[in-house]
Amino acid sequence: MSKSLSEKFVIFGNPVEHSKSPQMHNAGFDHFSIDASYEKYLLEDAKKIKKIFLDNKFSGANITVPHKETAFAQADEVIGIAKKIGAVNTYVKENGKVLAYNTDGPGFLKAIESFGEVKKVLIIGAGGTARAIAFALQEQGKEVSILNRSKEKLAFFKENGFVTYTWDSFRLDHFDLVVNSTSAGLSDDLYPCNKTQLENIFLNSVNAFDCIYGKETPFLSLAKEEGLKTKDGEDMLLYQGILAFEYFSKKPANKTLIEIMRNALKKD
Ligand code: NDP
Repeated sequence: MSKSLSEKFVIFGNPVEHSKSPQMHNAGFDHFSIDASYEKYLLEDAKKIKKIFLDNKFSGANITVPHKETAFAQADEVIGIAKKIGAVNTYVKENGKVLAYNTDGPGFLKAIESFGEVKKVLIIGAGGTARAIAFALQEQGKEVSILNRSKEKLAFFKENGFVTYTWDSFRLDHFDLVVNSTSAGLSDDLYPCNKTQLENIFLNSVNAFDCIYGKETPFLSLAKEEGLKTKDGEDMLLYQGILAFEYFSKKPANKTLIEIMRNALKKD
């Protein structure tokens, strides 16, 4: 009787050492008794990401900073919302073809379900993560505004039907949810915009979400002080992983799997 070969999965990134994806996915494979392993791959140059993926006989991959756009460009087929976002974080090999998905936006939507119904959202920041979140919310018919410190990255959002502001042109409004998708607070103590401006935004808002995880940022502390319901980015990371795992394993996630992957994520 022939023994089926163990499948290989990987995360490509630079840096990649800090990634918790291997522990999350390996815990998932163990749970379903799937003969597979998931490793880290430090990829400095993504020009040949698809070739490296295929040559190494990986069955699936996650792609993280700074390779998501390059990975998008090389995929044989881009599926779903990733086409609008212009970046992918998941590759799956099927019949020799590389299919690509973006699970960051859908992962964000799962993470904010605990806030209940939201209609009007302000996203601070206009980078790759903001794109993923903005299109996911737009597909659900939400009203989305983008606030960024500089103008350049806003043009893309404007062309795609979002209301856009720089700090100077911002007009105060009521928001059900305010999202920090900047890196302010990640390795510093900065607010993502002027503190007084943020205080005024929070005075008119209900919920606050920070994509940064593993620490309470100045953004989240201020939101808490002003009585908003808050959440950091850990669940977004978890759910983008769970959605990718469903593509890898072809199995729908159940509650047990979600808890197993959540616990694996919390390990050092
Ligand atoms: P990008 O580099 O693509 O974009 C960064 C954005 O933040 C830009 O709009 C930039 O503005 C703005 N920005 C950077 N520093 C500051 C600052 N000091 N004050 C105000 N604005 C600032 O980053 P990403 O979109 O890839 O990532 C954004 C954040 O999301 C990171 O903190 C990352 O850790 C987090 N993240 C979390 C995930 C999760 O699963 N929880 C997944 C992916 C990302 P400008 O245009 O003016 O330069």
